[in-house]
Amino acid sequence: MRGLLVIFSGPSGVGKDTLLEAWTARNPLVQRVVAYTTRAPRPGEQDGVDYHFVSRERFEELVAAGAFLEHKEVHGNGYATPLADLEAMLAEGLITVLKIDVQGALDAMKLRPEAISIFIAPPSFEELERRIRGRGTEDEATLLRRLENARLELSHQSAYAHVVVNDAIERAVDELEAIPATMSR
Ligand code: ADP
Repeated sequence: MRGLLVIFSGPSGVGKDTLLEAWTARNPLVQRVVAYTTRAPRPGEQDGVDYHFVSRERFEELVAAGAFLEHKEVHGNGYATPLADLEAMLAEGLITVLKIDVQGALDAMKLRPEAISIFIAPPSFEELERRIRGRGTEDEATLLRRLENARLELSHQSAYAHVVVNDAIERAVDELEAIPATMSR
């Protein structure tokens, strides 16, 4: 049986990676499409696991070859969703998750209207700021830019079929797990 495509987004620092890891641990059919990026890996990030890290030149070659469902620039770096990987995962019957920024998600919804769109929201803006600070991966200027961007992203949540508040991880995963279960295939 063909899998389901899930568009999964929300502001940086809201807990998307944390929730996806917990969701996959509970349901192994849930798998993330590994995106391509031109940005440098952060400490601890692995090539082919967190992203496919590629040079700007290679990225542009892949764009020209039509290898991506969508691609865009975020904070000066290229990000893209590989089409062949996505199709292979759907053919395997997986719940195929695109972890994608809000602008990319809006594009992906238009290109794939059958996809299930899920927005992960923070319990409050203050809590979002605490999580980004707690993660400790950004300098102050980047953090302020992310928070500014987050306000804009939060204003788009009504475009999504589902909004899940990441208050407590296991509770949020209960809600995520119930979404594809209710979809007819
Ligand atoms: P994203 O992938 O959306 O950028 P992360 O998964 O990296 O976000 O999470 C950002 C930070 O918030 C991490 O330090 C993570 O441990 C923390 N976090 C995630 N979910 C929760 C939660 N439900 N309660 C408290 N902290 C959380």
